[in-house]
Order: sequence, then structure tokens, then C-alpha cells
Amino acid sequence: MLSVESRQGTAGSRSRGAGDPRLHRARARQSGRSRRVIEPRERLRARPGLVLSIIGVGVLAVIALWWSDTLSVHGLGDWLTNAGRILGLLAGYGVVVLVALMARLPPLERGTGTDRLARWHAMGGRYVVSVIVAHATLITWGYAVTAHENVVGETKTLLLSYPDVLMATVAGFLFLGIGLVSARAARRRITYDTWYHLHFYTYLAIALAFSHQFADGASFVSSLKARFVWSLMYASVAALLIWYRVLTPLRSARRHRFHVVALRRESPDVVSVYIGGDHLDELQADPGQFFRWRFLTRGMWWSSHPYSLSAVPRPDVMRITVKDRGDHSGAVSRFRPGTKVIAEGPYGAFTPAKDSRQVLLLAGGVGITPLRAMFATLPGHVTLIYRASSPDDVVFGPELDAIARDRGGTVHYLIGSRAQLGGDPLSAERLLSLVPGLRRYDVYVCGPAGMQDSALAALTAAGVPRGRIHHESFEF
Ligand SMILES: Cc1cc2nc3c(=O)[nH]c(=O)nc-3n(C[C@H](O)[C@H](O)[C@H](O)COP(=O)(O)OP(=O)(O)OC[C@H]3O[C@@H](n4cnc5c(N)ncnc54)[C@H](O)[C@@H]3O)c2cc1C
Repeated sequence: MLSVESRQGTAGSRSRGAGDPRLHRARARQSGRSRRVIEPRERLRARPGLVLSIIGVGVLAVIALWWSDTLSVHGLGDWLTNAGRILGLLAGYGVVVLVALMARLPPLERGTGTDRLARWHAMGGRYVVSVIVAHATLITWGYAVTAHENVVGETKTLLLSYPDVLMATVAGFLFLGIGLVSARAARRRITYDTWYHLHFYTYLAIALAFSHQFADGASFVSSLKARFVWSLMYASVAALLIWYRVLTPLRSARRHRFHVVALRRESPDVVSVYIGGDHLDELQADPGQFFRWRFLTRGMWWSSHPYSLSAVPRPDVMRITVKDRGDHSGAVSRFRPGTKVIAEGPYGAFTPAKDSRQVLLLAGGVGITPLRAMFATLPGHVTLIYRASSPDDVVFGPELDAIARDRGGTVHYLIGSRAQLGGDPLSAERLLSLVPGLRRYDVYVCGPAGMQDSALAALTAAGVPRGRIHHESFEF
């Protein structure tokens, strides 16, 4: 079955959201308690430009560090060694930046967004691994030329005579392995959990490589000040990591006592989970954001997975909606009410711009989840285009229609394969015919990678400025 269907509503009050009896009971229990009004915090945001500038200043400082203790460079051996030294310093700095990007720092998460941070991390990771390989090659080659030795012999000497170099070499191979596993082609073949846990070897690699920087790095051997500043940089990022990735989620779990309240099947392979807790308004989660959820059941407590809020969060309950894609998402439908949860977040900058006047939400498949929450809250006229390959893949149909009716929005369902729909339903022409004046809209896109890429190209072709297109990928 296929269809192109549109629903339009007249202006009115906002949606009151989905109803579930257990959910209502949870709400009723809460309603008697006095509620503290949470004033929106002044939330610090580190915008992408600022973050890149800070990283760039760091790169300049690293080059200055090399410069400050390099009086002159003579001969091929010296040139090679010094090129290797600069790259080594940059690699040492680069790994710290990579970890800092993933340290879940709230200003970064809010201002730059997890999606973009993850892309930078992946791209930066490729550079850093290449720089590490080039550093090892050039340093060894440079030493070999200076010592009039061949490269193989010099490699043996370095590995056997300098234990720190041996440890750093093991670290280099670990970085290389993690880089290979994270490459797109390999990433798609392994589960989220495997990919996620393999990344923990990064910390081992950083620890193994650390000592060779001070033991053998010319910039540090002679300068206590340089060693101090470098150590401070590593220690600060380690402290932030422990604070935001370990202690903050534990404190939050204690304060909010997250637990599963109820489950509701939305389609054959999609289920909504209602998660209750105390003082959830203090989290100040916005529609469009996501949490990393760690369900404390046997076999699942050790992994947390990202899922977006699929409804406007309430002081006593939040909702996520999960499509069965593998081990974790498939097990979600078997949770029982009462299951304890650690929720880490909210994360993500995929939230509506405050000055949006006309908004188009473009959802593909389960990418509807954050857009469903935004559809219910955005001011002004909102159009939602919901692309799904079959009727079974459509979730929240009645909810979306009710929201459209209540708030005066429009929903277009584009259901079926391209062949069934007579071509690409998300082409620039089709989008313009569904949303006249599209180039003046702010557009929010969420869906599978392929759908996102073609939607972004179509929106650009339809004249929507790049700065008005916001998107989130469900892939890290
Ligand atoms: C910010 C964000 C928000 C998300 N919100 C939702 C949501 O609201 N609802 C929802 O259903 N899903 C959402 N996801 C996706 C969800 O996190 C994954 O589908 C889930 O974690 C997969 O775990 P699994 O163990 O079930 O599947 P796995 O067994 O790990 O994977 C099954 C298959 O999917 C591939 N895969 C799984 N996850 C990814 C990934 N992240 N990147 C690339 N390939 C992957 C694997 O390579 C494998 O082939 C979101 C993801 C992100 C990053």
C-alpha cells in the first residue's frame, strides 16, 4: 500500500499528548505534590565557530612550543626528526581534543550539538591517526639518517632500548585499530555496543603513550613549565570526563530516580517507553533533544544507548520511542514497569531556533521521534512531512493528526517506495509543491542517512539557505 496524504488543522490549543492509563496514574500521583517553578537557567553555549577557534589557538600554541626550543635545523636527519617532533606534539594535543569533544560538556553539547561533535570527532580521529603514523615514521627515519643506520635497525634500537617508545608503539597500533573499526564501512558491520566499548581502548592508548612524551620529547625534557602545562591539559580533560560522563549521570539518577512507568506498542517493530522520575523539570530538556539511556536489567546495565524524546517532557514523565534495529533496541519491548534507569542528558542542539516563524519538519522512518516532540511545541504554522516506506512504518498517526488539528498545523504522509510514489517524493519540485514559499522556512530534518543526504540536497536546490536547514543523524 502507498499513499500521499495530507491533514490540516485549524488553530487552537497545543496537543495534550499521548494517553496511557499507567501514565495518567503516574501523573495523578504527582499532581498532589507542590511543584517548584524552574526558571530557565542561563545556559552557556559554545558555538561551532568558537570551539574551532579555541582548537586552532591550541594548534598555534603547540607549534610555538616546538619553535621555542628549536634553535636551528641542519641536514636531512634533523629536518625529518623535527617534522616528526611537530607531528608528535600535534598528535599529543589532538588526542586530548578528541576526548574533550566527547566529554559531554554541556556548553559544547548545547551550542555545537552532539551530532556535529561526533562528526568532528570522527574526522579529527582520522587526522590524528594519520599524524601518529607520520610522526613515528619521520622520527624513526630522521634518527636513522642522523645515526647512519638503516630504518629497520633504528626501529629495533628504539623499541628495545626505550621502554616508553615500545609502550607508545603499542598505543599507536591501538589508535590505528580503533580508527579502522570506526571507518564507515567497518562501522556498519558491528553493533553499537561493540563499537562503543572498543573506544574505551583509547584511554589505554593515551595512558600508554603519555610517558614517552616527557621521557623522549625534546620540548619537555628540558622544560618543567612545558611539562606542567601539558600535564594540566591532560588532567583537566580527564577530570571533565570523569565529572560529566561518570559522576553527573550517577548524581542525576539519585536525584531523579528514573524508572520505566509503562510501554506502548506503536507498530510491529516500534515501542514507546514512558520513563517516570522526580523533578524531571529540573533537567530542562527541550523537544528535539535526546538522552543516553542505561536500563538497569540483567545484560543491559553496562551499555547506554541514545534515544530522543518523542513527546514534550513533563515534570513527572518522559517518553522515548524505539525501533527494533538490534540487540539493545530489540530488548526494549521486554522491559517491565519499575525497571530502573540511568538517563544521561539532555544532549543535542537539534532544538528549534527561537526566531523560527515558518517551520517545516521533515521526518524519515523513526526519525519522527524528535520531530513529533517539536511538532507539538513550536509556535507559528508548522508543516510536517513524514516519509515512510510502508504503512507499518508509520507511528504516531493519530497523535500527529490530533496535534495538527489542535494547533493548526499540516501533516503530509508520503508512504511507499520511490517507484510506487512515481519518483523521489522528497525532490525539490515535490517539496515546493507541498510547501509553497519553502525558501523562507526553517527546516528540521531527521531520518536515515540516505534520506537525509537526498533531503538536504533537495532543500538546497529548492532555495532554502544552508543556515536554515537543521538536521540530526541517528548515527554516531
Ligand atoms: C542522537 C541519536 C538519537 C537517536 N534517537 C533514536 C530514537 O528516538 N529512536 C530510535 O529507535 N533510535 C534512535 N537512535 C538510534 C539508536 O540509538 C540505535 O538504533 C540503537 O542504539 C542501536 O542499538 P542496537 O543494539 O539495537 O543495534 P545494534 O545491534 O548495535 O545495530 C544494528 C545495526 O544497526 C547499525 N547501527 C546501529 N546503531 C548505529 C549507529 N548509531 N550508527 C551507525 N550504524 C548503527 C549497526 O551497525 C548494525 O548493523 C538514535 C541515535 C542517535 C545517535
